[in-house]
Amino acid sequence: MVKVLVAAALHPKALEMLKNAGFEVVYKEYPSEDELVELIKDVDVVIVRSKPRVPRRVIEAAEKLKVIGRAGVGIDNIDVEAAKEKGIEVFNTPGAPTRSVAELAIGLMLAVARKIAFADREMRRGEWPKKQCMGFELAGKTLGVIGMGRIGREVAYIAKKGLGMKILYYDVIRCPREVEEELEAKCVDLETLVKESDVITIHVPLVKATYHLINEDLLRKMKKTAILINTSRGGVVDTEALVKALREGWIAGAGLDVYEEEPLPKDHPLTKLDNVVLTPHIGASTWEAQERAGIQIVEKIIEYFKKK
Ligand code: NAD
Repeated sequence: MVKVLVAAALHPKALEMLKNAGFEVVYKEYPSEDELVELIKDVDVVIVRSKPRVPRRVIEAAEKLKVIGRAGVGIDNIDVEAAKEKGIEVFNTPGAPTRSVAELAIGLMLAVARKIAFADREMRRGEWPKKQCMGFELAGKTLGVIGMGRIGREVAYIAKKGLGMKILYYDVIRCPREVEEELEAKCVDLETLVKESDVITIHVPLVKATYHLINEDLLRKMKKTAILINTSRGGVVDTEALVKALREGWIAGAGLDVYEEEPLPKDHPLTKLDNVVLTPHIGASTWEAQERAGIQIVEKIIEYFKKK
């Protein structure tokens, strides 16, 4: 019998699926590393989320582990190299949060364009900041999507179909023609995108080539009236340059869900600016995304053992 250690909160439907597949389930939410070293010894599968960490020491203690399942996207808490050396598969669920992150990006665009967070803050202080809250509509404006993968395309889809925006995009891989046609999306170089967009939304992974992709030079090339949304990874934007851009009015505003340092340090310069809307890395924090992550990871595990 396949024995599965569920080491993180997993959606009840996913747990049910494991049991229905005839697997033995051991449930221990977020064990310490020492506990995990013990628990992992006799299981075939371990399921985690962004916690607990699965470092080399844990992997080396495993005697019959075949799969590490991450219900979610990032696998930086898992020593993938150590797993590979022992022939252990590492699965994740990269498509699970797509819609949730896309909706958050759209929410941030609206919040920044209409100064919603600022208005809310002021009203709670007893103010009526009507005059300071002049905003702009998204309809008819140009959206520049940097990284037209799963999330970028979903954002472009909502922006095009739901808000009537025009779509430009920049990616190292061009989208299939059908996608470009459906979204009337134009593939352009990064500089053109930056110069022509009213809203820029970032959806590339953080890799060497994308580290500080949005730097001082590009921020200076944006329209003064434009806004920047980042729900990808903090390191894609040079934070120091962004703070300058927001402070000195090179751009109109920003909406951020991710930061170079997380949690964002208390009293960080970004928290002092009224033209920025901040959320604490909640792109995938929806019931639906969590449910999909749980179900998809269990489907992958069941499929793996079917093929064995
Ligand atoms: P994806 O792999 O489907 O898409 C990424 C796109 O970026 C691809 O089309 C790829 O070709 C492109 N790309 C890669 N390197 C590039 C480069 N150097 N220049 C231009 N384009 C490049 O990924 P996704 O599922 O759409 O996720 C996108 C980002 O969202 C990732 O950074 C991921 O970490 C982040 N994310 C954030 C949250 C959150 O909670 N805020 C949740 C999930 C994912």
